[in-house]
Amino acid sequence: MTILIEPTTPPCASVPEVYHDEQLHSPPARTDITAAEWESLNVKRASAHRQCAGCPVMTDCLYRAVVEVDVSGFVACTTELDRHLIRRQLGITVQQASTTPYGAPRVGGGPVSHEAVMTARQAYPKDTCHQLADRLGCSTSTIKRHLRRAREAKLEAREAIRETSSQPTMDAVLDAFDMLSTSKIA
Ligand code: SF4
Repeated sequence: MTILIEPTTPPCASVPEVYHDEQLHSPPARTDITAAEWESLNVKRASAHRQCAGCPVMTDCLYRAVVEVDVSGFVACTTELDRHLIRRQLGITVQQASTTPYGAPRVGGGPVSHEAVMTARQAYPKDTCHQLADRLGCSTSTIKRHLRRAREAKLEAREAIRETSSQPTMDAVLDAFDMLSTSKIA
């Protein structure tokens, strides 16, 4: 008798748009949106969090997104900031740019300068990346890349990052994940 084992599809594969929702993976500050929008965001995030928490490949997905490839999107119960905080806790940086469907590579320049993007962000703080891209005539991924670069520069200016050449263990990544207040959302 032949036993067929159905491959399990990760929840994100069915609704990729949810995991690429800008407000989910790069949440706005509470003061930037209304109470109703904040509540809606919390509900959306809790739902995605539960899906990831129940995903059969969650730990591998988290490890890869934290240690191996810098991806965009809400991944393995984490926002981009969450993953940055885990890396900082572990004292690691990611060298490899993403080539996965998760998101665009973090390297390379765009047609718009970093200064132009930051100036536009300052002038229109409530704009989405899509709206900023429209204003500047570039792609949304270019805007995201520049905004991320600015966020990382800000965080790195506050404290030095301890560099290490060795990769952390899965347990170390999970411990750092457990220390996030957002890891307990679901
Ligand atoms: S843990 Fe990773 S693979 Fe699983 S649903 Fe979440 S993002 Fe998708």
